[in-house]
Amino acid sequence: MKGKSFIDIRTLVRKNILTMKPYSSARDEFKGEAEVFLDANENPYPTPYNRYPDPLQKEVKEKLAALKGVDASQIFLGNGSDEAIDLLIRAFCEPNHDSILITEPTYGMYAVCADVNAVNIQQVLLTPEFDLDLDAFPNAFDATTKIIFLCSPNNPTGNLLSRDKIIEVLNRFYGLVVIDEAYIDFSNSRSFVQELKKYPNLVVLQTFSKAWGLAGLRLGMCFASEEIISILNKIKYPYNVNIRTQELSLEALENAYKKDIWVDEILNQRDKLIKALKGLKIVDKVYPTDSNFILVRVQDANATYRYLTDNKIIVRDRSRVSLCYNCLRITVGTPEENETLIKALKQL
Ligand SMILES: *Cc1c(COP(=O)(O)O)cnc(C)c1O
Repeated sequence: MKGKSFIDIRTLVRKNILTMKPYSSARDEFKGEAEVFLDANENPYPTPYNRYPDPLQKEVKEKLAALKGVDASQIFLGNGSDEAIDLLIRAFCEPNHDSILITEPTYGMYAVCADVNAVNIQQVLLTPEFDLDLDAFPNAFDATTKIIFLCSPNNPTGNLLSRDKIIEVLNRFYGLVVIDEAYIDFSNSRSFVQELKKYPNLVVLQTFSKAWGLAGLRLGMCFASEEIISILNKIKYPYNVNIRTQELSLEALENAYKKDIWVDEILNQRDKLIKALKGLKIVDKVYPTDSNFILVRVQDANATYRYLTDNKIIVRDRSRVSLCYNCLRITVGTPEENETLIKALKQL
């Protein structure tokens, strides 16, 4: 097998994206120190949001680079990881021709972004244990497959995919392999960010929406080779991450210990919740989880869901998802919230 260093990323990029000239903003053209800024038609009075944000979020990226052990040039920041998912598909998949390959079940946004961009979707069913079924891959993908999305830990199943199988996909596939690690902080697995040097076709997604507690800010992280990142930067909206989000995420990164405390507490609560759920009559199976939610198979998911909503408790009904018959997805909450849930389920 050829080494991965032979992959020329440019051969994977859509031709129009490769040759286009990107928008050049005022803040792109002048980056130095100055006192008088009359270049961007801004209101001069401090609101204090009268100025445009840094288009490339240099400060946030430098903090993040140090934390993750990568170079700032290997980071793209977007309006949620959803922006990175959309841009990857738009940069690499030719509409009405190319395909992405996803597992079934998995996070819904890969298919939505593919559909919006008229990109074909190829699916491989996970095993009954929700792991990758590598034997099914050869039948699922073909010459039009440009990106494989692997979500690990996976949503809505909650488990990590086998690391060995992911590595086999990385070794054998010559398009992009995107590993969505939105829930990696809740698992005991190493991130694939550390493998970027080995695999030029690897892209890793993480987010401030889950462990970091900042879903409302909308900030997603994408780690890849400098070459891939520069393509995403070329096609993104010029000011895709606003000033407030940059300020508050920087503050969060400077206080990363807070995230670690939340994760510890959530993992404690997760163990308690798993024990309590296993003791309930209506619960048939509690699936193993490496994330901040638990997939639970109950006797009648629709009835349980309705009963809980009547009691003002909202969980996610995943019973119509492949391999998730009669399954509910339950996010780990505060101790009080989890107790309220268990109390209600005991009375069912
Ligand atoms: C929640 C989640 C995300 C986060 O998306 P954002 O746009 O960053 O909020 C990404 N991937 C998966 C699998 C998720 O479950």
